[in-house]
This record gives sequence, structure tokens and C-alpha cells, in this order.
Amino acid sequence: MKQTEIVIDTYLCNGCGSCVELCPEVFGMDEIGEKAILVTSEPEITDKVREAIIYCPEKCIELI
Ligand code: SF4
Repeated sequence: MKQTEIVIDTYLCNGCGSCVELCPEVFGMDEIGEKAILVTSEPEITDKVREAIIYCPEKCIELI
């Protein structure tokens, strides 16, 4: 079975940093602080990740 992956649509991301605040284990900001990135290659889908997805104002974090 394929593992669930987190995908960030960086086109839609507004760089608010909410996901980083809610779950810094998985989300970070790029070097110019404009877009969210994943800080781990094999993130665990925890409740904090789900919370970050729910609270993303642009709804640009997805589980696939
Ligand atoms: S919460 Fe959404 S819009 Fe804000 S930085 Fe994270 S991915 Fe981007």
C-alpha cells in the first residue's frame, strides 16, 4: 500500500506560517520565508498535521 503523502500547493500558499506554528516537526518556511515547505521527507500524519491542514487559510495542504 502506498504511504500517505503531504502536498503543499506553493502557488496558493500565502506564507502565513500557521502550519509551522501548529506543527513545526513537519512544516517550515522556505529560505526567503515566503512559502511553506516540508522539513522531513517521511512525515508522520499526526493530529497536529491534520490540524495544520484544517487551519491553513488557503486550504493548500493536502494528503494524497
Ligand atoms: S498555513 Fe497554508 S498558507 Fe499558511 S504557510 Fe502553511 S501552507 Fe502556507
